[in-house]
Parts: sequence; C-alpha cells; structure tokens
Amino acid sequence: MGPAPVVIAGAGPVGLATALLLARWRVPTVLLEAAPHRSAVGSKAICFQRDVLDILGRVGVAGAMVAEGVTWTTGRTYFREHELYSVTFPKAEVPPWINISQARVEELLGARVAAEPLVDLRYGCPVIGYREDDDGVDVLTRDGPVRGSHLVGADGPRSAVRRLAGIDFPGRSFEDLFLICDIKASLPFPSERRFYFDPPWNPGRQVLVHQCPDSVWRIDWQVPPGFDLATADLDGMVGRITGSLPYEIVWVTVYRFHSRVAASLGRGRVFLAGDAAHLFAPFGARGLNSGLQDAENLAWKLALVRRGAPDRLLDSYDAERRAAALVNLAVTAKTMEFLVPQTAAQWEWRRTVLERAVTDPGARLLIDSGKLAEPYWYVDSPLTTATGPVPEEPGAARPPVPGVICPDAPVRGGRLRERFGAGFVVLVGRPERVAEAAALGAGLGDVPVEVLALPDLGIEGAPLGEGAGPDSVHLVRPDGHLAAVLPSFSAEALGAALHRAIGR
Ligand SMILES: Cc1cc2nc3c(=O)[nH]c(=O)nc-3n(C[C@H](O)[C@H](O)[C@H](O)COP(=O)(O)OP(=O)(O)OC[C@H]3O[C@@H](n4cnc5c(N)ncnc54)[C@H](O)[C@@H]3O)c2cc1C
Repeated sequence: MGPAPVVIAGAGPVGLATALLLARWRVPTVLLEAAPHRSAVGSKAICFQRDVLDILGRVGVAGAMVAEGVTWTTGRTYFREHELYSVTFPKAEVPPWINISQARVEELLGARVAAEPLVDLRYGCPVIGYREDDDGVDVLTRDGPVRGSHLVGADGPRSAVRRLAGIDFPGRSFEDLFLICDIKASLPFPSERRFYFDPPWNPGRQVLVHQCPDSVWRIDWQVPPGFDLATADLDGMVGRITGSLPYEIVWVTVYRFHSRVAASLGRGRVFLAGDAAHLFAPFGARGLNSGLQDAENLAWKLALVRRGAPDRLLDSYDAERRAAALVNLAVTAKTMEFLVPQTAAQWEWRRTVLERAVTDPGARLLIDSGKLAEPYWYVDSPLTTATGPVPEEPGAARPPVPGVICPDAPVRGGRLRERFGAGFVVLVGRPERVAEAAALGAGLGDVPVEVLALPDLGIEGAPLGEGAGPDSVHLVRPDGHLAAVLPSFSAEALGAALHRAIGR
C-alpha cells in the first residue's frame, strides 16, 4: 500500500487546484465532492490576476486561459451622465489580468484532474465527519471512511469541514443585493471595463460591465432591497446597456456579499482553503484569486511535511494565509463602504467625492470601485529571514525583499517565474557558487533545492533589485516568494535561511 493520500473536501476551483498542485509533488489525493457531477454554470469569478496565472500555469491551465481570455486595457468610470475618467494600461506579453469565467477555468482544471492518476475524484461523496489521530485522519463519508494524512476543507462558504473542526467564521453578511447577468451579444464596445455610478437608469446604485470570451458580457447590477428576479423586468434592465441590439441571457443570479475570515485556517491535521476560509465582496477580485494562493501555499507545505519537514511548516499556513485574508477583508470592506454605504456619513462621503470628481481630478483618486490584490508580503512570517528595513505595507510598489513575491524577469528560454514551483530555488550571482549552494540544499534531505546562477539565466542583477549584485543570493520558496535575500554569499547564512524556510 502506498502512502496515505491527502483528502480534500470540495472539487470547486480551489479543491481542484490543490489536488493538482499536490500531484506535482507526487502526493496522491482523494478529492471528495458533494455534488453528483460537475455543474459549473455562470461566470462567478471572472478576473484572474497575473501572479495567480503563474499558479494556474503550474497546473497546466494558464496557457489555455490566456489564449481564450479577454484582456481589457482601458477602464472607464462614469457618474450620472458624465464620464469621469479612463485609465489605460500598457499591453504586456503576460497580461496583468484576464477575464474568463470561473466555469471555464473549472472545466480546464477538471480535464487536468481527469488525466492525473494521482487524483482520485469522487462525486456524490460529501464529507460528513472526521476523526483525527496521531498518524492521520479518517474522513467519514456515506460510503465509509477514507484514510488520509491530512484533510483540506475546500468545501466552500458553508464548509462542513470548518463546522466539524469547530472553527468560527466571524464577520458580517450584508443585506444589499446584486444582480449578476451574463449576456451574449455583439456590442459595439471596445474591450473595456465600464463602471457606472448612479446612472440615470439606476440612481443611487451602480452597474459594472465586463467583457468575457465568446461575446459574453458580465453585468453586475446593484438592485434595490426586495428585488425579485421572478418578476423583474430583465429585458428593460439589460436594454439600458445593449440598446436595440439583440442579446441572449446566458446566466442570471442574485447574490448578497459577505465579509468573513475563519478564526483559524488550520486545526491539527485539518486545513481550510478558499471560500471555506474567507469570504470577501467580489469587487477587487480577491475571492478566487486568494483561494488559489491558499492552495499553492498549503500544497508545498503539506508535501514537504510528508517528506520530513517539521509540522511547524504547516503552522505557517495559518500565519501567512490568515494574515493575507485579513488584509483582503479590510480592503474589500473599505471598497464596499464606498459602493454600498451603510451609514449616513458614508453616503455623504460617496456623494461628495463623486460630485466633486466631475470637475476635480484630485477627487477622482478617492473613488473606490475595487482594488486588485497584491500577493501578500510574508515579511513577518516565521519562514522569512528578514534583512534590512521592512517595507511599509502591501499595496505599495513591490520591493524585492524577503517575504515579497520574487520579481519576474526574462531569462533564456522564458521567464524567471516559470522556473519556480518544484522546490526551493537559490539564485546566485556567480556560477562558481553553484556547487557550494547545492551542497547546502542537499543538507535538507528530501526537499528539492535547485541552484541557478544569474549569468547562466541571462540576468544581470538589476531585475532583482538595485542592491542585487554578483555576490548576492536570493532564496525563493516553491510559491515564488523570497524567503531570504543575502547581500553576499555565506554558507552559514544560506544554510540557516534554508532551514528557517522549511520550519526548522
Ligand atoms: C454568484 C457569485 C458571483 C461571484 N462573483 C465573483 C467575482 O466576480 N469575483 C470573485 O473573485 N469571486 C466571485 N465569486 C466567488 C467565487 O465564486 C468563489 O470565491 C470561488 O468559487 C471559491 O472557490 P472554492 O473552490 O473555494 O469554493 P466553491 O466554488 O464554493 O467550491 C466548493 C465545493 O465544495 C463542495 N462541497 C460543499 N460541501 C461539501 C462537503 N461536505 N463535502 C464535499 N464537498 C462539498 C461544493 O459542492 C463545491 O463544489 C462569486 C460567487 C458567486 C456565488
């Protein structure tokens, strides 16, 4: 009998990605899904960020996503009948984000899972309990127990795993309603995001229009309390955007938003990821993007602990990803104060900012229609060897310092970030240091450590920061975050940083 698998509850995008990421580490998984079959419909999450595309690249679906997805480079913001401003982003080889429906991404991930012998996906198999002991977990299903080394709850907002583990889910659910409508239409709009505040046809509320592939347009429409989809004049509403052009409604739903983060993302051998661990308002696209970052963070740590790294490495999952979730919660809560004010003072602020913005460019900077996330800076993580000053806060320009995701750079045959994911990577400035660094990496036992010399990659130091010179050493974690940046090569310092990065 082989080693016990990791058991994952939930084959949504986060569960599927976790299973595929673990398979890259040769870790078998049993993926238990409550639904009888995959039935992803509707766009749901539609915006996938560049850094998250790297994760999706590691599981083999980013290429198809980028090929099919829509990249908009201009965002326009309107207030009543005025266009307030537009922002245009430069076209890039690796786009800053792409629009593609979550349903399509789940389909792509599902196809990879179907072709992956290390993933045993069982539909119609809800997790209904678990028992943990010193060596593993018995995960209970109606078909009997499944034995695993660990259990990952990727079972969504109403997570059974979270409830069974007795983990609280504090936060708030809001009463405000949004109508999400995917329509198929040939609209004469260029590929732009359009944000309408208080349009004459939806006063006091907003409407957001995004393009998705295949001539599908996603409309997020804030609707009044008591809105009833069954009796609503949908054609009248959609016609405000399409005019007299024909369209077909592909998917429509009404939802409320929630702001919640689990009290802990791990308890014993059980971990929470994705919507089971956190729920954010969707403006800013932080829900699924951060869920996929959870999946990656957890997968390499589970894999290395199964190879002998200390359990402390898994403790860092909660430390790192809960901290990230709390920042996402704070940022999205601030956005929603602007979009959906809850107090008279917040209403007044919104009205003042929008009215001033018609003539005052300074006020336009105060409009908050959602902010895309920066991958969390793990500067305070127990795995990070901090050196030098700690940067101020996530959201500022990304410095190449320990804890922050490593900058990308063109290298011979591709991009630097494409070299990450299969283990630790040590980047040294001088080829003659490779053997010594590799010997230190070998001291970690069954933990893969690859040493790459910057000149061999075709990198001359600057992309890794002004301070990076021929003697500096960058230690990169499997998720692409810098674990340490050493100003000069020191066997002792690099050995210590490697041990720290695996929780020793
Ligand atoms: C209407 C709507 C619109 C959204 N729009 C956006 C958006 O614009 N931007 C954005 O970023 N996010 C958006 N989201 C959120 C996004 O869809 C989620 O963040 C994403 O689905 C989270 O993925 P997940 O895998 O963690 O959870 P889920 O997708 O919820 O998957 C969980 C899976 O677990 C299964 N399951 C449940 N219980 C059990 C059990 N006991 N045992 C086994 N399996 C179980 C479920 O059947 C499901 O397949 C939207 C969500 C909704 C509902």
